[in-house]
Amino acid sequence: MARYRAYTAHHLEKLTARTRFSADERLAMRAVAAVLPFRSNEYVVDELIDWLAVPDDPIFRLTFPQPDMLPQADLDRMVDLLRREASGNELRTAANEIRLSLSPHPGGQLDLNTPELRGEHLSGMQHKYRETLLFFPRQGQTCHAYCTYCFRWPQFVGEPSMKMATDDVDALCAYLLEHPEITSVLITGGDPLVMSADVLARYLEPLLDPRFESLESIRIGTKALSYWPYRFLTDPDADDLLRLFERVVASGRHLALMAHFSHPNELSPPVAREALRKVRETGAVVRCQAPLIRGVNDDPAVWSALWRQLTVLGAVPYYMFVERDTGPKDYFAVPLARASEIFCDAYRGVSGLARTVRGPIMSATPGKVMVDGVADVAGERVFVLHFVQARDPELVNRPFFAKFDPAATWLSDLEPAFGPFPF
Ligand SMILES: *Cc1c(COP(=O)(O)O)cnc(C)c1O
Ligand code: SF4
Repeated sequence: MARYRAYTAHHLEKLTARTRFSADERLAMRAVAAVLPFRSNEYVVDELIDWLAVPDDPIFRLTFPQPDMLPQADLDRMVDLLRREASGNELRTAANEIRLSLSPHPGGQLDLNTPELRGEHLSGMQHKYRETLLFFPRQGQTCHAYCTYCFRWPQFVGEPSMKMATDDVDALCAYLLEHPEITSVLITGGDPLVMSADVLARYLEPLLDPRFESLESIRIGTKALSYWPYRFLTDPDADDLLRLFERVVASGRHLALMAHFSHPNELSPPVAREALRKVRETGAVVRCQAPLIRGVNDDPAVWSALWRQLTVLGAVPYYMFVERDTGPKDYFAVPLARASEIFCDAYRGVSGLARTVRGPIMSATPGKVMVDGVADVAGERVFVLHFVQARDPELVNRPFFAKFDPAATWLSDLEPAFGPFPF
């Protein structure tokens, strides 16, 4: 049985001793880890990262602090504090200031989409799109390892005002009964599969009641298949978890694991494939999504290999995201024009079975916007875009246009073409 062994910032010195990094480079990593949370585990470090390929190894880039994750001035400030062996207090103050400047809740997430029940805000839930309710279970707000680019990072650092989570299952049930338009509940985090099967069952079992006849699907957002496949194989409650999945399926609902896979290397270990097979055996569908990140997966060959391997394993490619405009933006940003090329090239390289995937998609304030491509229309070069999801359902699936801009990385960088934006 594999035992989960976590690594945190305290282990960085020892872990990076495997590399040829200079003392300055190692100090820079510690400086980043003082601001942005670092967490990894033995499986990721020993099975997913090829240490001979570091610093270019994609899973190393995905999970270990990178100097370019902080703006240069912030990095210099933290390095200086560490060099001077500043007090813990001084370090914390500086780290908090930098965190706040990194815009932790983009897209008006905290206020705009919070549902209300009898005049009370239900924090820990989001109801942005008519059909789908997002639920953030309190015990599921951490992960088996952290992705460097994660826009949920405020969930992991000790700032209560930055957190969004709940354990109010009754409120969830009451809200669902009042909102029969909701057909899908998406349990998310962090990673809900850090919870024990018992705790997860406390959230899921009530939803299986026939009272919730309008609830057609339950989704669980997770990276456990990638960062801790033993969750489904040898963890003490692995079987309980799989039996819970079976009960959801037996209730007549579609159960989807919205699995986060960033790179085909995550599928190389046999245990990852075995875990995926076990999940599929329960009748759950595994759908896969990930953002496009510079230095991790900004290569069409990586995406087509990923989508093909996932399809072989019976999983369904779902979304390729453009990373949101938060946190370490300079580190991960890939311009939309390049993202669109990467998506097109990768999509061309797979059979129709894997063309279930959509992207590149920006999850922005008005909705999920897909970049269909670049076109020359009436003598003007434009981005062709459409909403895959929108707060205003009227906007969904209607093409609109923006002036081509090779440097734009987000919706807010774009200027409308041929008339104003529809939102
Ligand atoms: C992406 C997302 C969903 C799910 O959208 P689908 O297109 O159904 O996958 C739901 N709520 C929010 C806030 C989202 O960002
Ligand atoms: S697994 Fe998801 S929630 Fe966890 S750190 Fe990665 S992106 Fe963030």
